[in-house]
Amino acid sequence: MRASRYLLATVKETPADAVIVSHKLMLRAGLVRKLASGLYNWLPTGRRVLNKIETIIREELDRSGAQEVLMPTIQPAELWEESGRIDKMEGQMLKMQDRHQRDFVYGPTHEEVITDIARNELTSYKQLPMNFYQIQNKFRDEFRPRFGVMRSREFVMKDGYSFHVDQECLNKEYDNMYQAYCRIFDRLGLDYRPVLADTGAMGGSASHEFQVLADSGEDYIVYSTDSSYAANIEQAEAPMPAGERAAPTAEMTEVDTPNAKTIEDLVSQFGLPIEKTVKTLMVKASDEVDSDLVALLIRGDHELNEVKAEKLPQVAAPLTMATDEEIRAVMGAGPGSLGPVNASVPCIIDRTVSKMSDFGAGANIDGKHYFNINWERDVALPAVEDLRNVVEGDPSPDGQGTLKILKGIEVGHIFQLGDTYSKSLKAEVLDQNGKSQAMQMGCYGIGVTRIVAAAIEQNHDENGIIWPDAIAPFHVGIVPLNAHKSPEVMEVAEKLYADLQAAGYDVLLDDRDKKTSPGVKFADMELVGVPHRIVVSDRGLADGKVEYKARRASDKEEIALTDILAHIQ
Ligand code: ATP
Ligand code: MG
Ligand code: MG
Ligand code: MG
Repeated sequence: MRASRYLLATVKETPADAVIVSHKLMLRAGLVRKLASGLYNWLPTGRRVLNKIETIIREELDRSGAQEVLMPTIQPAELWEESGRIDKMEGQMLKMQDRHQRDFVYGPTHEEVITDIARNELTSYKQLPMNFYQIQNKFRDEFRPRFGVMRSREFVMKDGYSFHVDQECLNKEYDNMYQAYCRIFDRLGLDYRPVLADTGAMGGSASHEFQVLADSGEDYIVYSTDSSYAANIEQAEAPMPAGERAAPTAEMTEVDTPNAKTIEDLVSQFGLPIEKTVKTLMVKASDEVDSDLVALLIRGDHELNEVKAEKLPQVAAPLTMATDEEIRAVMGAGPGSLGPVNASVPCIIDRTVSKMSDFGAGANIDGKHYFNINWERDVALPAVEDLRNVVEGDPSPDGQGTLKILKGIEVGHIFQLGDTYSKSLKAEVLDQNGKSQAMQMGCYGIGVTRIVAAAIEQNHDENGIIWPDAIAPFHVGIVPLNAHKSPEVMEVAEKLYADLQAAGYDVLLDDRDKKTSPGVKFADMELVGVPHRIVVSDRGLADGKVEYKARRASDKEEIALTDILAHIQ
Protein backbone atom coordinates (compact mmCIF):
# COMPACT_ATOMS: atom_id res chain seq x y z
CA MET A 1 0.00 0.00 0.00
CA ARG A 2 1.19 3.50 -0.88
CA ALA A 3 0.61 6.06 1.83
CA SER A 4 -0.19 8.69 -0.81
CA ARG A 5 -3.21 6.63 -1.90
CA TYR A 6 -4.25 5.40 1.53
CA LEU A 7 -6.55 6.81 4.21
CA LEU A 8 -4.04 6.79 7.06
CA ALA A 9 -6.35 9.10 9.05
CA THR A 10 -3.91 9.57 11.93
CA VAL A 11 -4.50 12.43 14.35
CA LYS A 12 -2.15 14.11 16.75
CA GLU A 13 -4.53 15.22 19.44
CA THR A 14 -5.84 12.81 22.04
CA PRO A 15 -9.62 12.64 21.57
CA ALA A 16 -11.42 14.15 24.56
CA ASP A 17 -14.09 11.52 25.06
CA ALA A 18 -11.75 8.52 25.07
CA VAL A 19 -10.90 7.20 28.53
CA ILE A 20 -8.83 4.07 28.03
CA VAL A 21 -5.64 3.88 26.03
CA SER A 22 -6.91 1.50 23.34
CA HIS A 23 -9.84 3.78 22.55
CA LYS A 24 -7.53 6.80 22.32
CA LEU A 25 -5.05 4.99 20.10
CA MET A 26 -7.67 3.44 17.84
CA LEU A 27 -8.95 6.93 17.10
CA ARG A 28 -5.50 8.51 16.84
CA ALA A 29 -4.07 5.75 14.62
CA GLY A 30 -7.08 5.97 12.31
CA LEU A 31 -8.55 2.51 12.96
CA VAL A 32 -12.08 3.59 13.78
CA ARG A 33 -14.41 6.57 13.86
CA LYS A 34 -17.54 6.89 15.92
CA LEU A 35 -20.75 7.10 13.93
CA ALA A 36 -23.12 7.27 16.90
CA SER A 37 -23.13 5.96 20.45
CA GLY A 38 -21.74 2.41 20.36
CA LEU A 39 -21.53 2.39 16.56
CA TYR A 40 -18.16 2.55 14.83
CA ASN A 41 -16.90 2.84 11.30
CA TRP A 42 -13.85 0.69 10.67
CA LEU A 43 -11.41 2.62 8.49
CA PRO A 44 -8.90 0.79 6.25
CA THR A 45 -6.25 0.27 8.96
CA GLY A 46 -8.80 -1.10 11.41
CA ARG A 47 -10.35 -3.33 8.78
CA ARG A 48 -6.92 -4.78 8.00
CA VAL A 49 -6.42 -5.75 11.64
CA LEU A 50 -9.89 -7.29 11.80
CA ASN A 51 -9.17 -9.30 8.66
CA LYS A 52 -6.02 -10.72 10.20
CA ILE A 53 -7.85 -11.71 13.37
CA GLU A 54 -10.66 -13.28 11.40
CA THR A 55 -8.20 -15.26 9.28
CA ILE A 56 -6.52 -16.74 12.35
CA ILE A 57 -9.89 -17.63 13.85
CA ARG A 58 -11.05 -19.25 10.58
CA GLU A 59 -7.84 -21.24 10.17
CA GLU A 60 -7.95 -22.65 13.68
CA LEU A 61 -11.67 -23.42 13.65
CA ASP A 62 -11.52 -25.05 10.23
CA ARG A 63 -8.56 -27.07 11.47
CA SER A 64 -10.59 -28.21 14.46
CA GLY A 65 -13.38 -29.49 12.22
CA ALA A 66 -15.89 -26.65 12.53
CA GLN A 67 -17.83 -25.50 9.44
CA GLU A 68 -18.40 -21.88 8.50
CA VAL A 69 -21.94 -20.70 7.80
CA LEU A 70 -23.62 -17.29 7.58
CA MET A 71 -26.94 -16.47 9.17
CA PRO A 72 -28.95 -13.26 8.74
CA THR A 73 -28.41 -10.51 11.31
CA ILE A 74 -32.16 -9.90 11.30
CA GLN A 75 -34.15 -12.67 12.96
CA PRO A 76 -37.89 -13.33 13.24
CA ALA A 77 -39.11 -12.54 16.77
CA GLU A 78 -41.19 -15.74 16.75
CA LEU A 79 -38.04 -17.83 17.12
CA TRP A 80 -37.26 -15.98 20.32
CA GLU A 81 -40.77 -16.51 21.57
CA GLU A 82 -40.40 -20.20 20.84
CA SER A 83 -37.18 -20.42 22.85
CA GLY A 84 -38.73 -18.35 25.63
CA ARG A 85 -35.82 -15.93 25.61
CA ILE A 86 -37.53 -12.87 24.24
CA ASP A 87 -38.10 -11.42 27.72
CA LYS A 88 -34.71 -12.38 29.08
CA MET A 89 -33.00 -10.33 26.42
CA GLU A 90 -35.43 -7.43 26.80
CA GLY A 91 -33.56 -4.17 26.72
CA GLN A 92 -30.45 -5.55 25.02
CA MET A 93 -32.39 -6.50 21.92
CA LEU A 94 -33.16 -4.13 19.08
CA LYS A 95 -36.64 -4.88 17.83
CA MET A 96 -38.24 -3.83 14.59
CA GLN A 97 -41.18 -4.44 12.29
CA ASP A 98 -41.24 -4.87 8.58
CA ARG A 99 -43.77 -3.17 6.28
CA HIS A 100 -46.28 -5.95 7.01
CA GLN A 101 -45.99 -5.34 10.77
CA ARG A 102 -44.14 -8.60 11.34
CA ASP A 103 -41.80 -8.54 14.33
CA PHE A 104 -38.07 -8.93 13.94
CA VAL A 105 -34.98 -8.46 16.07
CA TYR A 106 -31.42 -7.62 15.18
CA GLY A 107 -29.59 -10.68 16.51
CA PRO A 108 -27.67 -10.19 19.76
CA THR A 109 -26.65 -13.87 19.42
CA HIS A 110 -27.76 -16.78 17.23
CA GLU A 111 -28.69 -19.84 19.32
CA GLU A 112 -32.28 -19.71 18.10
CA VAL A 113 -31.40 -19.46 14.41
CA ILE A 114 -28.75 -22.18 14.44
CA THR A 115 -31.10 -24.47 16.36
CA ASP A 116 -33.68 -23.82 13.66
CA ILE A 117 -31.11 -24.89 11.05
CA ALA A 118 -30.26 -27.96 13.10
CA ARG A 119 -33.87 -29.07 13.52
CA ASN A 120 -34.40 -28.79 9.77
CA GLU A 121 -31.17 -30.36 8.58
CA LEU A 122 -30.21 -32.95 11.19
CA THR A 123 -32.28 -36.08 11.62
CA SER A 124 -30.01 -38.87 12.81
CA TYR A 125 -27.31 -39.39 15.39
CA LYS A 126 -25.17 -40.61 12.50
CA GLN A 127 -24.77 -37.01 11.31
CA LEU A 128 -23.46 -35.89 14.68
CA PRO A 129 -21.38 -34.25 16.00
CA MET A 130 -21.61 -31.10 13.93
CA ASN A 131 -20.04 -27.75 14.70
CA PHE A 132 -21.01 -24.56 12.86
CA TYR A 133 -19.62 -21.06 13.18
CA GLN A 134 -19.97 -17.65 11.60
CA ILE A 135 -18.18 -14.33 11.85
CA GLN A 136 -20.75 -11.61 11.80
CA ASN A 137 -22.17 -8.44 13.29
CA LYS A 138 -24.28 -8.52 16.43
CA PHE A 139 -26.27 -5.74 18.00
CA ARG A 140 -26.75 -5.44 21.75
CA ASP A 141 -28.29 -2.27 23.04
CA GLU A 142 -25.75 -1.97 25.88
CA PHE A 143 -27.03 0.34 28.59
CA ARG A 144 -23.94 2.47 28.42
CA PRO A 145 -21.69 1.70 25.48
CA ARG A 146 -18.15 2.72 26.34
CA PHE A 147 -14.42 2.35 25.79
CA GLY A 148 -14.89 2.48 22.03
CA VAL A 149 -15.18 -0.93 20.40
CA MET A 150 -14.52 -2.63 23.73
CA ARG A 151 -18.19 -2.29 24.65
CA SER A 152 -20.00 -1.12 21.57
CA ARG A 153 -23.55 -1.81 20.50
CA GLU A 154 -22.85 -3.24 17.06
CA PHE A 155 -19.79 -5.46 17.10
CA VAL A 156 -18.32 -8.40 15.25
CA MET A 157 -18.54 -11.74 16.97
CA LYS A 158 -17.42 -15.18 15.99
CA ASP A 159 -20.22 -17.35 17.25
CA GLY A 160 -20.14 -21.12 17.01
CA TYR A 161 -22.56 -23.87 17.97
CA SER A 162 -22.12 -27.63 18.19
CA PHE A 163 -24.68 -30.45 18.21
CA HIS A 164 -24.34 -33.86 19.83
CA VAL A 165 -26.24 -36.99 20.58
CA ASP A 166 -25.02 -37.18 24.16
CA GLN A 167 -23.15 -35.38 26.92
CA GLU A 168 -19.99 -37.40 26.37
CA CYS A 169 -19.72 -36.19 22.81
CA LEU A 170 -20.43 -32.61 23.91
CA ASN A 171 -17.64 -32.85 26.49
CA LYS A 172 -15.24 -33.93 23.78
CA GLU A 173 -16.15 -31.08 21.46
CA TYR A 174 -16.03 -28.59 24.34
CA ASP A 175 -12.44 -29.68 24.98
CA ASN A 176 -11.71 -29.49 21.27
CA MET A 177 -13.00 -25.88 21.20
CA TYR A 178 -11.12 -25.03 24.39
CA GLN A 179 -7.91 -26.16 22.68
CA ALA A 180 -8.79 -24.28 19.48
CA TYR A 181 -9.38 -21.12 21.50
CA CYS A 182 -6.00 -21.49 23.18
CA ARG A 183 -4.35 -21.81 19.77
CA ILE A 184 -6.25 -18.76 18.49
CA PHE A 185 -5.32 -16.53 21.41
CA ASP A 186 -1.72 -17.81 21.35
CA ARG A 187 -1.44 -16.94 17.68
CA LEU A 188 -3.00 -13.53 18.27
CA GLY A 189 -0.10 -12.85 20.62
CA LEU A 190 -2.29 -12.06 23.63
CA ASP A 191 -1.51 -12.60 27.30
CA TYR A 192 -4.72 -14.35 28.39
CA ARG A 193 -6.14 -16.82 30.89
CA PRO A 194 -8.98 -19.31 30.45
CA VAL A 195 -11.14 -19.00 33.57
CA LEU A 196 -14.24 -20.69 34.97
CA ALA A 197 -17.25 -18.57 34.15
CA ASP A 198 -20.87 -17.93 34.86
CA THR A 199 -23.29 -19.08 32.17
CA GLY A 200 -25.44 -15.93 32.46
CA ALA A 201 -28.41 -15.53 30.14
CA MET A 202 -27.25 -18.43 27.94
CA GLY A 203 -28.20 -21.06 30.49
CA GLY A 204 -26.40 -24.39 30.60
CA SER A 205 -23.70 -25.93 32.74
CA ALA A 206 -19.93 -25.83 32.07
CA SER A 207 -18.46 -22.55 30.91
CA HIS A 208 -15.08 -20.89 30.47
CA GLU A 209 -14.13 -17.38 29.53
CA PHE A 210 -10.92 -16.36 27.86
CA GLN A 211 -9.73 -13.22 29.61
CA VAL A 212 -7.02 -10.91 28.31
CA LEU A 213 -5.18 -9.53 31.31
CA ALA A 214 -5.39 -5.75 31.51
CA ASP A 215 -6.03 -3.15 34.20
CA SER A 216 -8.72 -1.56 32.07
CA GLY A 217 -10.68 -4.84 32.03
CA GLU A 218 -14.20 -4.95 33.38
CA ASP A 219 -13.97 -8.44 34.82
CA TYR A 220 -12.23 -9.67 37.93
CA ILE A 221 -10.41 -12.96 37.84
CA VAL A 222 -9.31 -14.85 40.91
CA TYR A 223 -6.60 -17.41 40.45
CA SER A 224 -4.61 -19.73 42.67
CA THR A 225 -0.94 -19.12 43.31
CA ASP A 226 -0.21 -22.86 43.20
CA SER A 227 -2.68 -24.56 40.88
CA SER A 228 -4.45 -23.99 37.59
CA TYR A 229 -7.62 -22.79 39.36
CA ALA A 230 -8.82 -19.52 37.82
CA ALA A 231 -12.33 -18.12 37.78
CA ASN A 232 -14.27 -15.02 36.93
CA ILE A 233 -15.28 -13.60 40.30
CA GLU A 234 -18.89 -13.87 39.11
CA GLN A 235 -18.41 -17.60 39.28
CA ALA A 236 -15.73 -18.07 41.92
CA GLU A 237 -16.68 -20.33 44.75
CA ALA A 238 -16.72 -18.77 48.20
CA PRO A 239 -13.37 -17.01 48.13
CA MET A 240 -13.44 -16.53 51.90
CA PRO A 241 -14.35 -19.17 54.47
CA ALA A 242 -17.36 -18.15 56.52
CA GLY A 243 -15.47 -18.29 59.81
CA GLU A 244 -12.95 -15.71 58.69
CA ARG A 245 -15.38 -13.14 57.50
CA ALA A 246 -14.97 -9.63 58.80
CA ALA A 247 -17.75 -8.37 61.02
CA PRO A 248 -20.44 -6.41 59.22
CA THR A 249 -19.91 -2.69 59.39
CA ALA A 250 -22.20 -0.23 61.10
CA GLU A 251 -23.43 0.96 57.74
CA MET A 252 -25.55 -2.13 57.37
CA THR A 253 -29.23 -2.16 58.13
CA GLU A 254 -30.96 -5.16 59.60
CA VAL A 255 -33.01 -7.38 57.41
CA ASP A 256 -36.57 -6.27 56.95
CA THR A 257 -38.43 -9.50 56.40
CA PRO A 258 -40.05 -12.14 58.53
CA ASN A 259 -38.33 -14.84 56.50
CA ALA A 260 -34.72 -13.99 55.99
CA LYS A 261 -32.13 -14.17 58.68
CA THR A 262 -29.34 -11.76 59.44
CA ILE A 263 -26.99 -10.11 57.02
CA GLU A 264 -24.12 -12.37 58.13
CA ASP A 265 -26.21 -15.37 57.15
CA LEU A 266 -26.93 -13.92 53.78
CA VAL A 267 -23.35 -12.96 53.15
CA SER A 268 -22.01 -16.32 54.21
CA GLN A 269 -24.61 -18.23 52.22
CA PHE A 270 -23.82 -16.23 49.14
CA GLY A 271 -20.16 -16.82 49.80
CA LEU A 272 -18.92 -13.51 48.54
CA PRO A 273 -16.29 -11.12 49.79
CA ILE A 274 -18.77 -8.35 50.27
CA GLU A 275 -18.85 -7.91 54.02
CA LYS A 276 -16.53 -4.93 54.06
CA THR A 277 -18.43 -3.05 51.46
CA VAL A 278 -22.07 -3.83 51.87
CA LYS A 279 -23.71 -0.55 52.71
CA THR A 280 -27.26 -1.51 53.33
CA LEU A 281 -29.23 -4.64 53.09
CA MET A 282 -32.95 -4.83 53.11
CA VAL A 283 -35.09 -7.75 52.16
CA LYS A 284 -38.83 -7.77 51.92
CA ALA A 285 -41.07 -10.55 50.75
CA SER A 286 -42.86 -9.82 47.52
CA ASP A 287 -46.58 -10.57 47.50
CA GLU A 288 -46.88 -11.10 43.78
CA VAL A 289 -44.29 -13.80 43.62
CA ASP A 290 -45.76 -15.97 46.29
CA SER A 291 -43.33 -14.74 48.95
CA ASP A 292 -40.31 -15.58 46.85
CA LEU A 293 -37.70 -12.98 47.48
CA VAL A 294 -36.46 -10.76 44.76
CA ALA A 295 -33.00 -9.50 45.43
CA LEU A 296 -31.62 -6.53 43.64
CA LEU A 297 -28.02 -5.75 43.73
CA ILE A 298 -27.12 -2.17 43.33
CA ARG A 299 -23.79 -0.61 43.89
CA GLY A 300 -23.93 2.15 46.43
CA ASP A 301 -21.91 4.94 44.91
CA HIS A 302 -23.42 4.91 41.53
CA GLU A 303 -26.51 6.00 39.81
CA LEU A 304 -29.24 3.45 39.50
CA ASN A 305 -29.79 1.87 36.17
CA GLU A 306 -31.97 -0.70 34.60
CA VAL A 307 -32.02 -3.92 36.55
CA LYS A 308 -33.79 -7.04 35.47
CA ALA A 309 -34.73 -10.09 37.43
CA GLU A 310 -34.54 -13.55 36.05
CA LYS A 311 -35.61 -16.59 37.88
CA LEU A 312 -33.12 -19.29 38.74
CA PRO A 313 -33.63 -22.35 36.57
CA GLN A 314 -34.50 -24.61 39.49
CA VAL A 315 -37.36 -22.37 40.59
CA ALA A 316 -40.59 -23.48 39.00
CA ALA A 317 -42.67 -20.31 39.45
CA PRO A 318 -42.99 -17.91 36.51
CA LEU A 319 -40.47 -15.25 35.72
CA THR A 320 -41.02 -11.97 37.47
CA MET A 321 -39.47 -8.71 36.48
CA ALA A 322 -38.87 -5.89 38.87
CA THR A 323 -39.95 -2.72 37.14
CA ASP A 324 -37.85 0.40 37.03
CA GLU A 325 -40.43 2.18 39.18
CA GLU A 326 -40.27 -0.49 41.83
CA ILE A 327 -36.52 -0.27 41.94
CA ARG A 328 -36.53 3.47 42.00
CA ALA A 329 -39.11 3.46 44.75
CA VAL A 330 -36.81 1.39 46.87
CA MET A 331 -33.69 3.23 45.97
CA GLY A 332 -34.92 6.78 46.26
CA ALA A 333 -33.66 9.53 44.07
CA GLY A 334 -29.94 9.72 44.67
CA PRO A 335 -27.26 7.22 43.85
CA GLY A 336 -27.05 4.70 46.61
CA SER A 337 -29.54 6.47 48.82
CA LEU A 338 -32.43 4.61 50.30
CA GLY A 339 -35.95 5.67 49.50
CA PRO A 340 -39.28 4.61 50.92
CA VAL A 341 -39.33 1.03 52.02
CA ASN A 342 -42.91 0.34 51.10
CA ALA A 343 -42.18 -1.12 47.68
CA SER A 344 -42.52 -4.81 47.21
CA VAL A 345 -39.00 -5.13 45.90
CA PRO A 346 -36.34 -6.17 48.33
CA CYS A 347 -32.90 -4.97 47.65
CA ILE A 348 -29.30 -5.48 48.49
CA ILE A 349 -27.08 -2.50 48.07
CA ASP A 350 -23.47 -3.19 47.62
CA ARG A 351 -20.42 -1.47 46.25
CA THR A 352 -18.24 -4.21 44.99
CA VAL A 353 -20.01 -6.66 42.79
CA SER A 354 -21.63 -5.84 39.54
CA LYS A 355 -23.97 -8.68 38.86
CA MET A 356 -26.59 -10.41 40.88
CA SER A 357 -25.18 -13.62 39.55
CA ASP A 358 -22.19 -12.77 41.73
CA PHE A 359 -24.33 -14.08 44.52
CA GLY A 360 -24.12 -17.51 43.04
CA ALA A 361 -26.94 -19.58 41.66
CA GLY A 362 -29.42 -21.37 43.83
CA ALA A 363 -29.43 -19.07 46.79
CA ASN A 364 -32.07 -20.33 49.15
CA ILE A 365 -32.75 -18.75 52.49
CA ASP A 366 -35.30 -20.29 54.80
CA GLY A 367 -36.81 -22.10 51.87
CA LYS A 368 -37.13 -18.88 49.90
CA HIS A 369 -35.61 -18.75 46.48
CA TYR A 370 -33.65 -15.83 45.24
CA PHE A 371 -33.76 -14.52 41.75
CA ASN A 372 -30.72 -14.28 39.61
CA ILE A 373 -30.40 -10.70 38.46
CA ASN A 374 -28.96 -10.04 35.07
CA TRP A 375 -27.18 -6.81 35.73
CA GLU A 376 -25.79 -4.89 32.83
CA ARG A 377 -22.54 -3.34 33.77
CA ASP A 378 -22.92 0.31 33.18
CA VAL A 379 -21.11 2.03 35.99
CA ALA A 380 -17.56 2.57 37.14
CA LEU A 381 -15.88 -0.49 38.53
CA PRO A 382 -14.77 -0.94 42.10
CA ALA A 383 -11.08 -0.39 42.63
CA VAL A 384 -9.16 -3.61 42.27
CA GLU A 385 -7.50 -2.74 45.58
CA ASP A 386 -10.88 -2.93 47.35
CA LEU A 387 -11.31 -6.46 46.13
CA ARG A 388 -7.68 -7.35 46.67
CA ASN A 389 -8.05 -6.57 50.37
CA VAL A 390 -10.87 -9.01 50.81
CA VAL A 391 -9.97 -11.74 48.35
CA GLU A 392 -6.22 -12.14 48.25
CA GLY A 393 -4.53 -14.59 50.65
CA ASP A 394 -7.80 -16.78 51.05
CA PRO A 395 -7.38 -20.24 50.32
CA SER A 396 -8.08 -21.35 46.77
CA PRO A 397 -11.34 -23.38 46.51
CA ASP A 398 -9.36 -26.35 45.21
CA GLY A 399 -7.29 -26.33 48.40
CA GLN A 400 -4.05 -25.60 46.56
CA GLY A 401 -2.36 -22.28 47.20
CA THR A 402 -4.03 -18.97 47.90
CA LEU A 403 -6.10 -16.67 45.73
CA LYS A 404 -4.91 -13.62 43.87
CA ILE A 405 -6.98 -11.20 41.85
CA LEU A 406 -6.46 -9.63 38.42
CA LYS A 407 -8.53 -7.64 35.98
CA GLY A 408 -9.39 -9.04 32.59
CA ILE A 409 -11.13 -8.32 29.30
CA GLU A 410 -13.50 -11.08 28.21
CA VAL A 411 -12.55 -11.89 24.61
CA GLY A 412 -13.98 -15.39 24.39
CA HIS A 413 -16.64 -17.45 26.09
CA ILE A 414 -17.51 -21.12 25.66
CA PHE A 415 -20.56 -22.80 27.16
CA GLN A 416 -22.12 -26.22 27.38
CA LEU A 417 -25.75 -25.41 26.71
CA GLY A 418 -27.08 -28.95 27.09
CA ASP A 419 -30.58 -29.27 25.69
CA THR A 420 -31.93 -25.84 26.71
CA TYR A 421 -32.54 -24.71 23.13
CA SER A 422 -32.96 -28.06 21.44
CA LYS A 423 -35.81 -28.84 23.86
CA SER A 424 -37.65 -25.55 23.54
CA LEU A 425 -37.19 -25.49 19.75
CA LYS A 426 -37.59 -29.26 19.37
CA ALA A 427 -34.32 -29.95 17.61
CA GLU A 428 -34.35 -33.74 17.76
CA VAL A 429 -32.57 -36.62 16.09
CA LEU A 430 -33.09 -40.35 16.17
CA ASP A 431 -30.58 -41.98 18.49
CA GLN A 432 -28.91 -45.40 18.23
CA ASN A 433 -32.14 -47.06 19.40
CA GLY A 434 -34.34 -45.24 16.93
CA LYS A 435 -35.67 -42.99 19.67
CA SER A 436 -36.23 -39.29 19.10
CA GLN A 437 -33.95 -37.22 21.31
CA ALA A 438 -33.21 -33.53 21.85
CA MET A 439 -29.62 -32.78 20.84
CA GLN A 440 -26.97 -31.62 23.29
CA MET A 441 -25.51 -28.25 22.34
CA GLY A 442 -22.35 -26.27 22.94
CA CYS A 443 -21.83 -22.62 22.08
CA TYR A 444 -18.60 -20.74 21.52
CA GLY A 445 -18.14 -16.96 21.19
CA ILE A 446 -15.23 -14.68 20.41
CA GLY A 447 -15.40 -10.87 20.49
CA VAL A 448 -13.57 -10.14 17.23
CA THR A 449 -13.75 -6.34 17.37
CA ARG A 450 -13.09 -6.33 21.12
CA ILE A 451 -9.85 -8.25 20.51
CA VAL A 452 -8.45 -5.27 18.61
CA ALA A 453 -8.91 -3.04 21.65
CA ALA A 454 -7.66 -5.75 24.03
CA ALA A 455 -4.50 -6.27 21.98
CA ILE A 456 -3.76 -2.54 22.11
CA GLU A 457 -4.35 -2.42 25.88
CA GLN A 458 -1.52 -4.95 26.18
CA ASN A 459 0.73 -3.63 23.44
CA HIS A 460 1.45 0.09 23.31
CA ASP A 461 3.85 2.78 24.47
CA GLU A 462 3.78 6.58 24.60
CA ASN A 463 4.27 6.75 20.82
CA GLY A 464 1.41 4.49 19.86
CA ILE A 465 0.38 0.92 19.15
CA ILE A 466 2.87 -1.98 19.07
CA TRP A 467 1.10 -4.73 17.13
CA PRO A 468 1.88 -8.36 17.66
CA ASP A 469 3.20 -9.32 14.17
CA ALA A 470 0.30 -11.68 13.51
CA ILE A 471 -2.34 -8.95 13.52
CA ALA A 472 -0.40 -5.87 12.41
CA PRO A 473 -2.19 -3.90 9.64
CA PHE A 474 1.19 -3.75 7.87
CA HIS A 475 4.25 -5.84 8.69
CA VAL A 476 6.80 -3.47 7.22
CA GLY A 477 6.90 0.29 6.69
CA ILE A 478 9.31 1.86 4.21
CA VAL A 479 10.23 5.53 4.57
CA PRO A 480 12.28 6.97 1.70
CA LEU A 481 14.08 10.13 2.86
CA ASN A 482 14.20 13.20 0.59
CA ALA A 483 13.04 11.08 -2.32
CA HIS A 484 12.13 14.21 -4.29
CA LYS A 485 15.85 15.03 -4.46
CA SER A 486 17.16 11.52 -5.01
CA PRO A 487 15.80 9.22 -7.72
CA GLU A 488 18.02 6.42 -6.38
CA VAL A 489 16.35 6.52 -2.95
CA MET A 490 12.92 6.15 -4.53
CA GLU A 491 14.14 3.45 -6.86
CA VAL A 492 15.54 1.37 -3.98
CA ALA A 493 12.42 1.98 -1.90
CA GLU A 494 10.21 0.83 -4.79
CA LYS A 495 12.31 -2.30 -5.30
CA LEU A 496 12.18 -3.14 -1.58
CA TYR A 497 8.44 -2.54 -1.66
CA ALA A 498 8.02 -5.01 -4.53
CA ASP A 499 10.42 -7.61 -3.07
CA LEU A 500 8.82 -7.56 0.37
CA GLN A 501 5.35 -7.93 -1.10
CA ALA A 502 6.54 -10.80 -3.26
CA ALA A 503 7.88 -12.41 -0.07
CA GLY A 504 4.35 -12.23 1.38
CA TYR A 505 4.56 -9.15 3.59
CA ASP A 506 1.97 -6.40 3.90
CA VAL A 507 3.99 -3.27 3.23
CA LEU A 508 3.26 0.41 3.67
CA LEU A 509 5.44 2.56 1.46
CA ASP A 510 5.37 6.14 2.70
CA ASP A 511 5.58 7.87 -0.65
CA ARG A 512 3.88 11.04 0.54
CA ASP A 513 5.56 14.08 -1.01
CA LYS A 514 7.79 16.61 0.70
CA LYS A 515 4.83 18.42 2.30
CA THR A 516 4.85 15.56 4.82
CA SER A 517 8.05 15.83 6.82
CA PRO A 518 10.19 12.78 7.72
CA GLY A 519 9.33 13.45 11.38
CA VAL A 520 5.61 13.11 10.66
CA LYS A 521 6.20 9.94 8.65
CA PHE A 522 8.19 8.37 11.49
CA ALA A 523 5.56 9.38 14.03
CA ASP A 524 2.80 7.84 11.90
CA MET A 525 4.68 4.54 11.55
CA GLU A 526 5.09 4.41 15.34
CA LEU A 527 1.50 5.44 16.06
CA VAL A 528 0.03 2.90 13.64
CA GLY A 529 2.38 0.35 15.20
CA VAL A 530 4.07 -1.12 12.12
CA PRO A 531 6.41 -3.79 13.59
CA HIS A 532 9.32 -3.28 11.15
CA ARG A 533 10.48 0.07 9.75
CA ILE A 534 13.04 0.57 6.99
CA VAL A 535 14.43 4.02 6.19
CA VAL A 536 16.09 4.48 2.82
CA SER A 537 18.40 7.50 2.53
CA ASP A 538 21.17 8.82 0.29
CA ARG A 539 23.60 8.68 3.18
CA GLY A 540 22.86 5.03 3.92
CA LEU A 541 22.87 3.97 0.29
CA ALA A 542 26.35 5.49 -0.11
CA ASP A 543 27.50 2.59 2.14
CA GLY A 544 25.05 0.11 0.61
CA LYS A 545 22.91 0.23 3.78
CA VAL A 546 19.42 1.01 5.00
CA GLU A 547 18.27 1.84 8.51
CA TYR A 548 16.12 -0.74 10.29
CA LYS A 549 14.12 -0.31 13.47
CA ALA A 550 11.85 -2.84 15.16
CA ARG A 551 8.82 -1.12 16.73
CA ARG A 552 9.55 -2.81 20.05
CA ALA A 553 13.27 -1.92 20.07
CA SER A 554 14.65 1.41 21.18
CA ASP A 555 17.70 1.35 18.88
CA LYS A 556 18.03 1.62 15.13
CA GLU A 557 20.39 -0.63 13.16
CA GLU A 558 22.32 -0.12 9.94
CA ILE A 559 21.73 -3.16 7.75
CA ALA A 560 23.22 -3.97 4.35
CA LEU A 561 20.56 -3.52 1.69
CA THR A 562 21.28 -7.03 0.45
CA ASP A 563 20.55 -8.48 3.94
CA ILE A 564 17.40 -6.57 4.83
CA LEU A 565 14.86 -9.20 3.72
CA ALA A 566 16.61 -11.93 5.65
CA HIS A 567 16.90 -9.59 8.65
CA ILE A 568 13.14 -9.08 8.85
CA GLN A 569 12.34 -12.80 8.69
P1 ATP B 1 -19.72 -8.89 28.59
O1 ATP B 1 -19.68 -9.64 29.88
O2 ATP B 1 -18.46 -8.15 28.31
O3 ATP B 1 -20.95 -8.03 28.44
P2 ATP B 1 -20.98 -11.11 27.40
O4 ATP B 1 -20.66 -12.14 28.43
O5 ATP B 1 -22.30 -10.46 27.45
O6 ATP B 1 -19.81 -9.97 27.42
P3 ATP B 1 -21.10 -13.16 25.38
O7 ATP B 1 -22.56 -13.31 25.29
O8 ATP B 1 -20.31 -14.17 26.13
O9 ATP B 1 -20.75 -11.68 25.92
O10 ATP B 1 -20.56 -12.97 23.88
C1 ATP B 1 -19.34 -13.51 23.35
C2 ATP B 1 -18.25 -12.45 23.22
O11 ATP B 1 -18.70 -11.28 22.52
C3 ATP B 1 -17.77 -11.91 24.55
O12 ATP B 1 -16.85 -12.81 25.13
C4 ATP B 1 -17.13 -10.59 24.15
O13 ATP B 1 -15.78 -10.78 23.76
C5 ATP B 1 -17.95 -10.15 22.96
N1 ATP B 1 -18.86 -9.05 23.33
C6 ATP B 1 -19.99 -9.14 24.07
N2 ATP B 1 -20.59 -7.95 24.20
C7 ATP B 1 -19.81 -7.06 23.51
C8 ATP B 1 -19.91 -5.66 23.24
N3 ATP B 1 -20.92 -4.95 23.71
N4 ATP B 1 -18.94 -5.08 22.49
C9 ATP B 1 -17.92 -5.81 21.98
N5 ATP B 1 -17.78 -7.14 22.19
C10 ATP B 1 -18.71 -7.76 22.95
MG1 MG C 1 -22.91 -8.55 28.02
MG1 MG D 1 -19.46 -11.62 30.39
MG1 MG E 1 -19.76 -13.94 28.14
